[in-house]
Amino acid sequence: METSGFTDEQLTVRDAIFKVCEQFPDDYWMERDISGEYPHELHAALAKDGWIGIALPEDLGGGGLGISEATMMMHTIAESGAGMQGAQSIHANVYATQPVMKFASKEQRGRFLAKIVSGEWRTCFGVTEPTTGLDTLKLKTRADRLPDGSGYSISGQKIWITNAQIAQKMVLLARTTPLEEVTKPSEGLSMFFIDIDHSKPGFEARRIKKMGGRAVDANEVFFDNYHIPSDALIGKEGQGFKIILHGMNAERSLLAGEALGLGYAALTKATAYAKDRVVFGRPIGQNQAIQHPLAKAFMNLEAAKLATYHAARLYDRSNPDHPDYDRAITQHQVGVACNSAKYVAAEAAFAACETSVMSMGGMGYASEYHVERYMRECFVPRLAPVSRVSIAIYSALKTLLDSILMCFAGNDHELHRRTSAGAAEELLKPSSGPKLDTGLILMHSVRVR
Ligand SMILES: Cc1cc2nc3c(=O)[nH]c(=O)nc-3n(C[C@H](O)[C@H](O)[C@H](O)COP(=O)(O)OP(=O)(O)OC[C@H]3O[C@@H](n4cnc5c(N)ncnc54)[C@H](O)[C@@H]3O)c2cc1C
Repeated sequence: METSGFTDEQLTVRDAIFKVCEQFPDDYWMERDISGEYPHELHAALAKDGWIGIALPEDLGGGGLGISEATMMMHTIAESGAGMQGAQSIHANVYATQPVMKFASKEQRGRFLAKIVSGEWRTCFGVTEPTTGLDTLKLKTRADRLPDGSGYSISGQKIWITNAQIAQKMVLLARTTPLEEVTKPSEGLSMFFIDIDHSKPGFEARRIKKMGGRAVDANEVFFDNYHIPSDALIGKEGQGFKIILHGMNAERSLLAGEALGLGYAALTKATAYAKDRVVFGRPIGQNQAIQHPLAKAFMNLEAAKLATYHAARLYDRSNPDHPDYDRAITQHQVGVACNSAKYVAAEAAFAACETSVMSMGGMGYASEYHVERYMRECFVPRLAPVSRVSIAIYSALKTLLDSILMCFAGNDHELHRRTSAGAAEELLKPSSGPKLDTGLILMHSVRVR
């Protein structure tokens, strides 16, 4: 990767993380991918050197840095050869703790986050549900107040919850007021930071078999009258959706970094192979048919790198506590930048992995050359936490829809005057003439904020 333009802090993070990751060579990751065993040693090594709390405040034992530096950390973990499975073993502890830090009480912050920073606890993130998917506002898991007021009873089902087997905590989004009783669908959801206790009645996590990143478990999670205390609630009841969004933009930025790391790791393997592999009397890397696709993949990654670190910078500088706080940066701009970065970085990583596999001929398909593993892993940033379609639709809604509406609304000044979302709703009505796929636009505008 070209490293010019990064801050001293980012470059220091990069050097230090590469040093930690040197202890975990390619074969360590190949073996974990086969055995499905969580990389406890990586988590412990990062926690020991204080990296898990990189973006949490110093008074909690954290590094006091931002998402710009955390993105570099995740990028470097992936680029070291740990790939998505190495990054995903850490990931939620960095982004899912952001809304806890921002909205928990001082007492809760100390009680919950210090043990994440020290590595004693790990957290997972429980949002997705099997029957609602990307339509987050319809989620059905309920948190009902217990009659004696001591806490809540959780019932419902989550799916794809990464690390639920090894985590002690979960950031959980659940409905505290039924959908039919709220004025807006984004209301009535609450965010909790709950204990995961596999021995307690009412909690079960079943591992899902998956294509790649097998060292990191993904689960179906079942709650059946699972009791949690009142002080697991973070922020105000009913405001959970707004609260959790704070973690979602951070997650996109980290994931974009992880995708970049994976793409650069693949290109490093492929270029080394192209220098060594001799057929027809010369290294295959001397052929332009090998060079140009690799160069193109590299340039795509470099472009995606700019988008990623731009998004991370906007995220950080929109925070009033940041030394370079810029009040002009809106959450709308942060959302557009983080979603765009996730999209382009995931696509650039995919192109880099595919090009690397193809450039290496048959050995691109052999496990011992590692790029086939990267190829399998690089579907994750394309699929999750939101799909490519969702982001394309979000961009249409948030940045392009006004100009599209100019075409559809013609001289209807009233329609022009409305907000994009309102106007999109208008377009859903049969009387509005030409139709966009606005149902999906509205649905996803919430999920991908
Ligand atoms: C490896 C992995 C790890 C994950 N980890 C977590 C985690 O830790 N915590 C968590 O909460 N979630 C996690 N997820 C879940 C992830 O966020 C979801 O898979 C993702 O949000 C998509 O939801 P879904 O799979 O239900 O897709 P669906 O909502 O079922 O959508 C399926 C496809 O249909 C498309 N689609 C839907 N409606 C339309 C339409 N009207 N028009 C066009 N296209 C449409 C979507 O874009 C998508 O491509 C993980 C997923 C994976 C694969």
